[in-house]
Amino acid sequence: MPAPSLVDVTTMVQTGQPADAAASSPDAPVADTGTAEGRTPRRPSLSPSRAADFKTCPLLYRFRTIDRLPERKSLAAVRGTLVHSVLERLYDLPARERTADAARELVAPAWEELRADPEVAALFAEGGAADGAPAEQPTEAPSLEAWLASAGKLVDNYFSLEDPSRIEPHGREELVEVTLPDGLLLRGYVDRLDVAPNGALRVVDYKTGSVPREAFEGKALFQMKFYALVLWRTRGVVASQLKLLYLGNGDALTYSPDEAELVRFERTLQAIWAAIERAVATGDFRPNRTRLCDWCDHQALCPSFGGTPPPFPAEAAAAAGWPALPIVERA
Ligand code: SF4
Repeated sequence: MPAPSLVDVTTMVQTGQPADAAASSPDAPVADTGTAEGRTPRRPSLSPSRAADFKTCPLLYRFRTIDRLPERKSLAAVRGTLVHSVLERLYDLPARERTADAARELVAPAWEELRADPEVAALFAEGGAADGAPAEQPTEAPSLEAWLASAGKLVDNYFSLEDPSRIEPHGREELVEVTLPDGLLLRGYVDRLDVAPNGALRVVDYKTGSVPREAFEGKALFQMKFYALVLWRTRGVVASQLKLLYLGNGDALTYSPDEAELVRFERTLQAIWAAIERAVATGDFRPNRTRLCDWCDHQALCPSFGGTPPPFPAEAAAAAGWPALPIVERA
């Protein structure tokens, strides 16, 4: 099956503009900055980030989802949270007041809320990992002023991609979830959901990086198809547009899925979930060493780096709702 291409059709589902008013622009691939998916699920479920974890490295999935081991916050990730917060708040303003100046003024209060977390505040006290730097290679942190200015620049770039005065979101940071007939719970948080007067859906995801290298195209498509599948299964409508806004370089990628594709994608998620359930039943989460290990906080516990994982937390897994199946010890 040929890989679908990312095509920027820039279909506007904005107030007062027809959903089929389209223009074209070049596209490119993606990297995930992550958003609000770390929130505690009600029961074992699959989100785009956690599915990507398991595909990347089953042991990483275990550490994050079952052991729930803490991870360092990075300046890049916190800046992503900050910018997402600003863009969410921007739409609290009346449409005519959604200007770039107004958005920049939202940066400081959003930061004040974030810095209430001591771990976030400590990033500037101790120096954190700079944008894109591997976790084991901390570099000198930028000044708070420079870091906030970089967040403001990302907010500015947003205005080169959309005119928020012409958009009335249907949802922001919207939880979307569905339980498939086989019991698999899919859930995730959509940055923004737009609904056109004709019912057409547009899913928008803000990325605080630049358009990534081609290797990440599959990851971007995976995340957006996930949201499209959940929306289709809950609303009976295939999203007309999945849109990724790259605030780092002011570029956008869009993709339009079709129903047959979402059916295939659902089977893919079910296969991933079946593999996760097998791993939970046996406690066998194998490491998969790749270049992404440079960014992993758990190398000290990873056999690929000479470490030993802690015993599989079977009781914690059962308490979290995983089936309490016998644990088979590995030789
Ligand atoms: S260091 Fe690499 S192989 Fe080990 S758990 Fe992390 S991602 Fe997996």
